[in-house]
Amino acid sequence: MSNWSKIERMHTCSVNGCTWASERRLFTCMPHWLKVPQDLQSKVWDAYRALPQKRPDRQTLLNDPAYCQAAAAVIEHLAAAEGRAPLSEWRTAAAGHEHGAATA
Ligand SMILES: [Zn+2]
Repeated sequence: MSNWSKIERMHTCSVNGCTWASERRLFTCMPHWLKVPQDLQSKVWDAYRALPQKRPDRQTLLNDPAYCQAAAAVIEHLAAAEGRAPLSEWRTAAAGHEHGAATA
């Protein structure tokens, strides 16, 4: 039983092609997170802490403009560093928020 509750708190790393499991509150696995510059790390944490939910799920995070911006910057930094294609859903979500804000 305790194994299942642990699994629910895990997800795979958000970096494209990386299959490491990480805790849900962490955006990427630890090896990837350690490669992220501190200013980008703090942007992700600031956006995460600013959410009203204590344990926001993935959809909640995708709905948050600040989190999407920070997350997209992290993914693009890691993708460039590793020569991978960036996973686009965070940038797509961020762009969607920008579009929404412009037309609101
Ligand atoms: Zn990773």
